[in-house]
Amino acid sequence: MKDIQKFLLSSQPPKARSSVERKKHLQKLKIIQSLYFQGPQTNTQICEEFNISSPTSIRLLNQLMDQNWVKKEGQGESAGGRKPDLYRLDKDMFYVMGIQLERSRLKIAIFDNHNKKVADFKDLFELETGDGLVDHIFEEANKLIETSGIDLDKLLGIGISMPGLVSSKEGRNFTYFIKEEESESLEDILERKFNKPIFILNDAKSACVAESNFGMATNRDNVLVISMDWGIGLGVIIDGKVYEGSSGFAGEFGHIPLVDDGQLCHCGKRGCLETVASGLALTRMAQEGIKAGESTSLNLLSEEDLKNLQPEKIIEAANMGDQFSINILSKVGINLGKGLAILIQLFNPELIILEGKFAKASQFITIPIQQSINTYCMAQLREKTKISLSNLGDDSVLLGSVATVMENIFGKQISLINNS
Ligand SMILES: [Zn+2]
Repeated sequence: MKDIQKFLLSSQPPKARSSVERKKHLQKLKIIQSLYFQGPQTNTQICEEFNISSPTSIRLLNQLMDQNWVKKEGQGESAGGRKPDLYRLDKDMFYVMGIQLERSRLKIAIFDNHNKKVADFKDLFELETGDGLVDHIFEEANKLIETSGIDLDKLLGIGISMPGLVSSKEGRNFTYFIKEEESESLEDILERKFNKPIFILNDAKSACVAESNFGMATNRDNVLVISMDWGIGLGVIIDGKVYEGSSGFAGEFGHIPLVDDGQLCHCGKRGCLETVASGLALTRMAQEGIKAGESTSLNLLSEEDLKNLQPEKIIEAANMGDQFSINILSKVGINLGKGLAILIQLFNPELIILEGKFAKASQFITIPIQQSINTYCMAQLREKTKISLSNLGDDSVLLGSVATVMENIFGKQISLINNS
């Protein structure tokens, strides 16, 4: 077995004999971290990133190659002359599991150390009911590990994203799973069951972490990531860092008051943004319209599909040209744009990334959002803000969970060395 797992999961600082050795250990750790998050790199890129000389970098890379943790493969761009070698992490060294809980679906996937998905599982799931959820997640995750055939020792940790008020620091969800964690935190329960490091976080934050590591927010300083799913989530990147707030709850954008005497929200308040701009609002509008006898292709759905109407079905109908679906998406977009106008005035972001189920509605959602922003935002601010659809696809939240696990694992090792 390769000892990369020990290298990354050690609970003790390295037994280095001298400060020079400690420094070398730290540099190797940081090179592995950089190759993990940014992919293959040339020696020149590594020298620039860590401000080290070429001989030093080559020496470290050679040592990492001797350990079979890094290998030379392929070539990078050259500014003229011979193309430089690319260094990358060796394959199959470690794996990370991402678990995504939605209101009505459970998604589990295992990613390798090149961030490629090697196994996944999807199932319908009721988050609201609460009973036995932890056991169910544990069972399905174990089944996936077994069928994937990966060595359990190589699984470094598990990241779990979920809706609700999630405190990553305390490892608790204050909206769901309340019954199950009367004395023990959700994170502790899962850690005890899985016997692996577990990190839980809010799903919108997870999408934001994914965008900042692998998506359009990479190397950008001031970005807002809007998750448009059943609820509306917000992740805020300020000065290149994902902003947490004092209790880790920053970004509860869906529950800002937007409508006077509006509909009752599932949070218990009235007139929240989510009551007029979310997957919940969209399906409610569709069901109301169908009841009122609107002519729409949604009428062709089975009774079962209509009862458990998913936002995806409405978005599909809009993309097929269904006028009613286009209209209600437009209403949602106008309302969401109003909310975004407030955010633009507050944060002056360079980019707003829209992700989640609604991203598939492309112009049917972006045009009304843009119209609303044009109406409600000061020109000087809105002109500086680009609105883009995420390019990470359906796995963005899972990728964010996985990135969070690795950020924490690297962060812990780096602080162990720095404090030793
Ligand atoms: Zn609310």
